[in-house]
This record gives sequence, C-alpha cells and structure tokens, in this order.
Amino acid sequence: MAMRNILHCFICPAALPPRLMVRLVGDENADKCAIAQQRRLANIRPIIEINELTRICASCNRSIIREINALQRDPACLRLNVLTQSSSHSCLICNSPNEPRLSTEARVNIFLNRDIYVPEYVKSCAHHLNGNGFLLQRLLPGLRFVNRPYVIPGRELQTFLKHLRNTANEHPKIDSEDYFSDADFESIALSRKFSLEVYMIFAILYR
Ligand SMILES: [Zn+2]
Ligand SMILES: [Zn+2]
Repeated sequence: MAMRNILHCFICPAALPPRLMVRLVGDENADKCAIAQQRRLANIRPIIEINELTRICASCNRSIIREINALQRDPACLRLNVLTQSSSHSCLICNSPNEPRLSTEARVNIFLNRDIYVPEYVKSCAHHLNGNGFLLQRLLPGLRFVNRPYVIPGRELQTFLKHLRNTANEHPKIDSEDYFSDADFESIALSRKFSLEVYMIFAILYR
C-alpha cells in the first residue's frame, strides 16, 4: 500500500496532508512562532527549532491568528522585544529547573542593555549573576527575543516602571533627582504609552 504524504502539526497531535498545513518560517511569522512555541510547551512536547519543514495544522493556525488579533485589540497590548527561552519553568541560560526568579533590577538592567523585556516569571541560577544580582555582562549578547504583541500585567508593569525610575534617577546624567516624579510614572502606567515613554527615558539617559 502506498504511503500517503502526511505532515505532523508542530503544536497538536494532528497529522494531515500538506494542503491542510501552514508554514511557520519567515520574519512575517515571528508572532505566530512565539505563540506556537508557547503552545507546544503547554502541550508538554519536547522543544525543537522551527525550520523550513515546520508546519502547523489549519485549525491551530486559525486559533493563533485569533489570539494575535485579540492581543492587538487589547488597549494594554504593546509591541516589545520579549525574551524567548526553551522553557518558562527553568533557568534562562542553562535550563536548570527550580532556580529563583530574576530580580526586577536584573530585568530592568537587561531591558536597558539589550532592549529585551524579561517577564516577571523568568528564572536564573545564581552563578550567572554578578554581585549586584544582574545577569553577567558576557551573557547579555546571547539572549534571544522575538518582537511581538505582548500584554504586561498592570502590577508587573507598575513594579517594572518603579525600578526603571529608580535607575533613571540614580544615573549621573539626570540633573534633577525628582526629574521623574511618581506621578509621571503613574501616568505612564495608566496611559500604557509604555514604549514611547521608555524611549524618551533612553533619549535622556544616553544623549
Ligand atoms: Zn495543530
Ligand atoms: Zn542556569
């Protein structure tokens, strides 16, 4: 009996003919790839790289498009460089399980150095950190990210902005200690014009 040409979905157990499957490679699919990886992890399937041969079924494809559309309609949705890692449950560098979370200061430091947003749940082994609890400088270039629509939960955003404000105020290039008031940052958190405001801070810090 002739073998039919069947492809397996990257996310779910579906195995279907090629005409019912959708490719994942390509810059235009960055959002889809990030969501597909998350869903694969959620289905407790082993991590594999996305390549030319990777396909998802039409049903998973429709569902991901719905998720992207919903994200983009959410007024709290931002387009950010978001850290990608093999598993959200393990160390961001070596995948060791059961490590403590990175501090907010360490996440702010990564954001300022690499323009990568590291979600609150991300963990790291102690030996990847320096005396300040920041990720070692030599590890920063190796961090991977995807630019995608992302919603930072309100409380997480507020804490992050508070630490960003502290960093901005500690920086010697800022003339006035109260240049960024609590009210300023409160309004940033409320208005959600996060990226614009953050780039304003960059412009002031690194002018
Ligand atoms: Zn599928
Ligand atoms: Zn580690």
